[in-house]
Amino acid sequence: MRAIVVSELGGPDVLQLSDVDNLQPGPGELLVKVGAAGVNFIETYQRSGLYKMPLPYTPGAEAAGHVLAVGEGVIGFQPGDRVATSDGRGSYAEQMIMSAERTVHVPDGVDIKTAAAAMLQGMTAHYLTQSTYPVKAGETALVHAAAGGMGLLLTQLAKTAGAKVIGTVSSEAKAKLATEAGADEIVRYDQFEDEALAAEVLRRNGGQGVHVVYDGVGASTFEASLASLRPRGMLVSFGNASGPVPPMAPLRLSQGGSLFLTRPTLVNYIAARQELEWRAGDVFRWIQDGTLKLRIGAEYPLGEAGQAHRDLESRKTTGKLLLIP
Ligand code: NDP
Repeated sequence: MRAIVVSELGGPDVLQLSDVDNLQPGPGELLVKVGAAGVNFIETYQRSGLYKMPLPYTPGAEAAGHVLAVGEGVIGFQPGDRVATSDGRGSYAEQMIMSAERTVHVPDGVDIKTAAAAMLQGMTAHYLTQSTYPVKAGETALVHAAAGGMGLLLTQLAKTAGAKVIGTVSSEAKAKLATEAGADEIVRYDQFEDEALAAEVLRRNGGQGVHVVYDGVGASTFEASLASLRPRGMLVSFGNASGPVPPMAPLRLSQGGSLFLTRPTLVNYIAARQELEWRAGDVFRWIQDGTLKLRIGAEYPLGEAGQAHRDLESRKTTGKLLLIP
């Protein structure tokens, strides 16, 4: 079968389409024919070496597809089942291994591409808005990169909760998408820096700081995010799209007004099977009842994985990116 193989760390060109050996499911595992694989920022961090991976490896954790074979001891899954995971092994491939424990069935009425697009970012938007900081009616959330994969979902879920959303974007086309997703105010953060960006956020919020900042951009927005909060507000720093945030003294949280800072990651919010089923179930239900609209920004053939990374890293994309084997 064919898979993307990374044999050395580097830029998007290290993502090479290769012929590899067929896979066998081990105990507790499923062999899955990948219908669509999600492209996520984490795979760029792994490819560049920011997050460590043993070489060589096939990237990708998120996909949806059909079960081809089940390993020893698997209960509840059979060949032919439609399944999805955010936590599989090597989804940039025609076939991959999913742990049965980390996999859910795709409900009727949700197609395979939508399921692949929904798992990682959908469950992340779920835990950020329902568990990390459950934003409420009457509160204001600042959502950075509001037209991105995560940004469009966070904006919709914060609006569903009744909050006011201030979204940041880098272009007018992205501003339009974030507005369609429900953002009340749009700030062009490419036109402001640090204190000036925070001042603009406060101006758009009646002179008040916001209750929560959902920040997946990282290094370039961190200072503005802290300065945009009201006393006892929470900065949810969940990504590094512009680079990792440098070290910071806890005293700054006190000086900013008894602020909270958290750096969460999905695995800890779906560690229990029950929690995984709750979050995936809600996301699929919200897609079916129209609460959550997924935007698939682009689809790439497997061999163009490098181009998908290049586009994602150069801020060209909106919504979710998929690889179609
Ligand atoms: P996006 O679709 O949001 O793409 C990233 C966006 O970030 C760009 O489109 C761009 O929007 C903005 N951006 C700002 N500065 C830069 C820069 N220097 N380089 C690249 N992009 C920049 O990506 P995802 O939705 O896939 O991921 C968003 C973030 O969420 C990532 O940091 C990712 O790691 C994180 N994440 C974290 C998870 C967790 O559990 N902690 C789980 C899932 C994702 P604009 O042009 O408007 O500035």
